[in-house]
Amino acid sequence: MGQKVDIRALVDEVKLNVQERLTMLNGLPAEGDIISLKSVRLLREKLSFTDEEHERLQFFHPLVCNARCGWTERYEDRRRVWALGTQEECEACGAGAARGPMIMWDRTQESEVEIPFSKRQVRTVVDWLWKLNKEKKLTPPHVTLWDKFIGDQGEDEEDL
Ligand SMILES: [Zn+2]
Repeated sequence: MGQKVDIRALVDEVKLNVQERLTMLNGLPAEGDIISLKSVRLLREKLSFTDEEHERLQFFHPLVCNARCGWTERYEDRRRVWALGTQEECEACGAGAARGPMIMWDRTQESEVEIPFSKRQVRTVVDWLWKLNKEKKLTPPHVTLWDKFIGDQGEDEEDL
């Protein structure tokens, strides 16, 4: 599979949901040359959540059971302290529970946002996804981004 994505054929406005924006904010490269870094910085600003969205979505790090019993704090049951690293108790088995890097929010308040991308920013996203694909590091949240930014370009039907 070569890098043959034609970015001229790609959209310049993309409708993104909360998970997709988080995936990009967490994953876009933090290293590169000065031009690509400026491009990524501007892109991050566009992807970032506004005060109004923070107010509406109420992001938090859910407690996850340390004993891996399967319990994870739900948005509906969230407690007052939502900060990363807080230690509490698993409500299912009584073991310890900790707030890890996972992010949750009020999904009933979720909406998609249309975000404009420059050609360079599209290139940055496409290169990032290709790299993850090559390293076999794509995860389910990346797949919808792949569909939106690359579509079926580069997918060899024989491979499917
Ligand atoms: Zn537990």
